[in-house]
Amino acid sequence: MNFWNQELSLLKAEGLHRELKRLESSQSPRVIIDNREVIMLASNNYLGLSTEQEIKEAVIRVIQKYGTGSGGSRLTTGNYDLHEQLEKELADFKNTEDALVFNTGYMANLGVLATVVGSEDVIISDKLNHASIIDGCRLSKAKFLVYKHGNLARLENILKRSSKYRRRLIVTDGVFSMDGDLAPLPEIVELAEKYQALVMVDDAHGTGVLGSKGAGTIEHFGLEGKIDIQIGTLSKALAAEGGFVAGSKDLIELLRNKARSFIYSTALAPATIAASLASLRYLQSHPELFKNLWRNVNLLKDGLEDLGYELLPSNSAIIPIMIGDREKTMELSKALLVEGVLASGIRPPTVAEGTSRIRVTVMASHSVTDIEEVLDIFARVGRELKLIR
Ligand code: PMP
Repeated sequence: MNFWNQELSLLKAEGLHRELKRLESSQSPRVIIDNREVIMLASNNYLGLSTEQEIKEAVIRVIQKYGTGSGGSRLTTGNYDLHEQLEKELADFKNTEDALVFNTGYMANLGVLATVVGSEDVIISDKLNHASIIDGCRLSKAKFLVYKHGNLARLENILKRSSKYRRRLIVTDGVFSMDGDLAPLPEIVELAEKYQALVMVDDAHGTGVLGSKGAGTIEHFGLEGKIDIQIGTLSKALAAEGGFVAGSKDLIELLRNKARSFIYSTALAPATIAASLASLRYLQSHPELFKNLWRNVNLLKDGLEDLGYELLPSNSAIIPIMIGDREKTMELSKALLVEGVLASGIRPPTVAEGTSRIRVTVMASHSVTDIEEVLDIFARVGRELKLIR
């Protein structure tokens, strides 16, 4: 019997089979797929920095000096001056004492959660938290309690009922990756203080996007110094790959000693670190990036709403267009691609049944013309599929 084939057939029958798209160009506002140029509306390269000349040149210089692979884990032979410099600058950017880089945001969540809590503790988690948080919670062996998305009354109820645990950790995305909305962090911090809980915020989609200097959701809400554990990723606005944790000196020292996904994995290559470092410096000296990003977000949101699409009320560079039905969602995504827009269809199990959506993301590097063309295509395709009038 072919087990794999059976499982694949099941996925196909349920309409949940996934396929990879193949890009043949950089993550620019316009990309090449199947020899055809389409407008990219699905990249997390929010500030468009992955193609910035100054950053590419910094990476090339680092490759010339250090070569390609890092050659070992950070605690053996893979720790370069560049890793430490990036951690110092990330801590400054996030206004914390220290920071630690992991190989992905996913690994940061796994390593941190499995280190800071254990079987005597409880994790209190927003229903829509990212999969890597959920997997980290499972790995930690802590009791795992979930509150309805953004619902403070439910969160408080759980806090009231959970005083028997050694540690209580509230964990939330800063910007929710599929809805694009923000966690109510000021209220969460208030509750955490009232019930002596720790707070961990995963700001993968806020970093480089929110706050006046782009430091993220915590800067946006003015909560510097009030969040115990901040997670970020280098793979989105910072245009490279990797994840990081920012927090107190003691937290970072503990993670350096105990986080298994940090200890037992080869360090990120110097070139990757150089890309993040150059991006971090670049975004701090180019405030016009934020202006362009928000201009594009607002142009696209207003335009889609004027066309009659239903948007979720997001506050980030993530704009979810609600369709509901999974087949219709994938049909729209395919038709958009044929007409020249790459926009991802998101369906269960990533989102709840009946809430399938097109999740579009904009970049600072999109021009007004790009956005206008996108809107023309959404108008045409939406009418053809009878999604709008
Ligand atoms: N947290 C959130 C909220 C995310 O959206 C993602 C990536 N999609 C991650 C963590 C994982 O980060 P990375 O891609 O760097 O592994």
